[in-house]
Amino acid sequence: MRIAIIGAGPAGLFVGSALAGRGHDVVAVDRDTGPPGEGRWRRPGVMQFHHAHAFRAQVGRALQQEWPGALAAWLDAGAEPITFDVPGMGTVQAGHRSRRDTFERALRTTADTVDGLRIRRGHADGVLSSDGRVCGLVVDGSPVEADLVVDASGRSGRSVDTLRAPATVGGPCGMAYVDREYRLVDGAEPGPLTNPLAWQADLDGYQVLVFLHERGYFSVVLVRPTDDAALKDLRYAAAFEAVCRAVPGLATWTDPERAVPVTDVLPGGPLRNAYRGQRSRDGRPCTPGLVSVGDAVATTTPIFGRGVATTFLQILQLLALLDAGTDPAVVAEPFDAWCEENMLPWVADHVAMDGDVVRRWAGGDVDLTRRLPSDLILAAAARDPGIGPATGGYLSMLQTPSSLDPVEPLARAVYETGWRPGFAPGPRREEVREIVAAALRADGVDATPAPARST
Ligand SMILES: Cc1cc2nc3c(=O)[nH]c(=O)nc-3n(C[C@H](O)[C@H](O)[C@H](O)COP(=O)(O)OP(=O)(O)OC[C@H]3O[C@@H](n4cnc5c(N)ncnc54)[C@H](O)[C@@H]3O)c2cc1C
Repeated sequence: MRIAIIGAGPAGLFVGSALAGRGHDVVAVDRDTGPPGEGRWRRPGVMQFHHAHAFRAQVGRALQQEWPGALAAWLDAGAEPITFDVPGMGTVQAGHRSRRDTFERALRTTADTVDGLRIRRGHADGVLSSDGRVCGLVVDGSPVEADLVVDASGRSGRSVDTLRAPATVGGPCGMAYVDREYRLVDGAEPGPLTNPLAWQADLDGYQVLVFLHERGYFSVVLVRPTDDAALKDLRYAAAFEAVCRAVPGLATWTDPERAVPVTDVLPGGPLRNAYRGQRSRDGRPCTPGLVSVGDAVATTTPIFGRGVATTFLQILQLLALLDAGTDPAVVAEPFDAWCEENMLPWVADHVAMDGDVVRRWAGGDVDLTRRLPSDLILAAAARDPGIGPATGGYLSMLQTPSSLDPVEPLARAVYETGWRPGFAPGPRREEVREIVAAALRADGVDATPAPARST
């Protein structure tokens, strides 16, 4: 079968290599170039490419199963496998410490060696259609015929918009972020960690995260309400560093004796969640000849680092359907049913949780009139030891968010006593604004409004 893939990001490369390995003739089209021999890999097609990423165990497991060569290349490039102690589950594989750049270089360079997979630089303008089905792509104005088109164009892909119904769930979640990458100096120990992959601190009105990558690289991420316009100025190094000094845990991580910045401050943008099924605009369950995967289906905010895991889980399912003999032309239909059961719950979980975090950042109390969002159920485990053992499936993504339902009443009982999770030490958001303004004044920065682009 001839297969054309829109996008050679994690989804396009993974599905492309797996399908080529099954004997198909595969071309993956990407508007970005591959990694340069040396220096920074520019990836304008993936806005988050240089931003903080953590990789869950599902990613390494999927590679081990379908593409061990890419896993080996990733490990060779420095990816560090880690384990977690999960409540009720003991010690489990937790994922890999790695920068996204390191991960994707490993995939891309391995993809270049896969027989039957060709990566073509170009822009997929749209699809070729005939008799109500998709039969190829238009790349830079020229036709590329295919029996199946896989849309792996990511969260901002637009090339099948004329055929595919829009997202049904999600939208901007009211959070924006900014981050910076650092490297531990030789011999320095990491700062505080909540788990082997990350440090997370919830402060009054905002959140800070540290993702530990490979070989001592780490990223500091500051997450704030989108509507707090003054905090857009965190994109200035002087402001970012001043806040790092003011939050005790971050001060430890970014102490110049311990670590040095290796990138500029990387402004992110408003974050979003989205679920987009396979239905066609004309109401059919799918457009024959077309299937969408990865972020093009399920986009979640990075707070829990789920995107590449949900992407690879989808691809394993798509492959399982094809391996079982499903007609490739309409494989999108059973795939859609699976995604609704297994992917949509993660997006819905983020929509509920992220929206409620933003509401609480603005001073709202825990809302006991509806199901508690998952983060509050997890937090209540600090008060009721009966909750913790039920959270492992959710935390490890081995079970969907409904696995927390049985302990939601226990968490609710905790909040009904009036108990609330405390804030991590550090300035309140109002104080952060003052720290930012003072740092910019001291640095002589004339702050200007930053453009907003939803990711
Ligand atoms: C700030 C941020 C942090 C994140 N952190 C994490 C994390 O910690 N852990 C995690 O697991 N996930 C994280 N994610 C999510 C993760 O980045 C995505 O899940 C992942 O990129 C999805 O891969 P993809 O291949 O589906 O899409 P993408 O990586 O977006 O790749 C899509 C590709 O398609 C190409 N393309 C699109 N349209 C066209 C066209 N018309 N023609 C040619 N090429 C095209 C693009 O150039 C791109 O290469 C984060 C996301 C954000 C926004």
